[in-house]
Amino acid sequence: MSTSVIMLGTGSPRLNKERMATAHLLSMGGESILVDCAEGTTMQLVKADIPPQDIKYVFFTHLHADHMLGYANFLISSWVEGRRELTVVGPVGTKKMHDLLVEMLENDINYRMSLGRPDTGIRDVKVIEIEKEGRVNVELPIDVHCAEMVHNVPTFAYRFDKESDSVVFGGDTAPPTDPLAKLAEGAGMLIHDACLTLIEDDQTPNSSKIWENLQKEHCTPAQAAETAKKANVKQLVLTHFLPKMNPKNVLDEAAGVFNGEIIIPNDLDVIKLSSKTLTKS
Ligand SMILES: [Zn+2]
Ligand SMILES: [Zn+2]
Repeated sequence: MSTSVIMLGTGSPRLNKERMATAHLLSMGGESILVDCAEGTTMQLVKADIPPQDIKYVFFTHLHADHMLGYANFLISSWVEGRRELTVVGPVGTKKMHDLLVEMLENDINYRMSLGRPDTGIRDVKVIEIEKEGRVNVELPIDVHCAEMVHNVPTFAYRFDKESDSVVFGGDTAPPTDPLAKLAEGAGMLIHDACLTLIEDDQTPNSSKIWENLQKEHCTPAQAAETAKKANVKQLVLTHFLPKMNPKNVLDEAAGVFNGEIIIPNDLDVIKLSSKTLTKS
């Protein structure tokens, strides 16, 4: 079965009717793995014809709202639809988030159990918190490694390897991206934060100060391309876009740095891992 990623959300916290906030579905070695779970993720899965109940693994890169607000809905809806096991991986704080949501939903869970559903898949969710880079100990027929990113809350990038296939999710990161380049060394696909694309005519109050501060938390397309070049990956997928970004400008900026395949996806695009080889420039 070929490895692919569905881009469930290619947007940011900024509201955008064309781009939902961050979520991806990795299909690798017969497993379906959700990486981040922003608002709307479960319905994006439904639109992509992926039964949410088939997903038994969720990885959080970090716990910012634009990466986790859809988790409560995923947890309940996929269980209601028949999911009976779940493992969740994320930085420290993931267990507290999960426990608080289950507590908040206590009455709802009790009601749905009174209709005849078992408590498996909802009260026995396995939560694994990671504190440092290295191998992630999770029961999967896939090797998973992580590295810590430069962001303003604990944030991890994940690398998934199965035989010769490898896919890396960078999470949100600012430079320096050396830990990400090291994690992604020789990978087939690198999905990278390229949030710092200029918004034309931004009417947000305080927008210039916000823009200045965002430089400490995210990357430009050129910086993302620099990581891809350093890591010698085959495919660079840019994401985490602000509203009104111009795809051609983003592509041109990245292509000025990286000569591999560059993808500027839309929501629900399916990206197949390329088997093409790249010679380092
Ligand atoms: Zn973030
Ligand atoms: Zn984000």
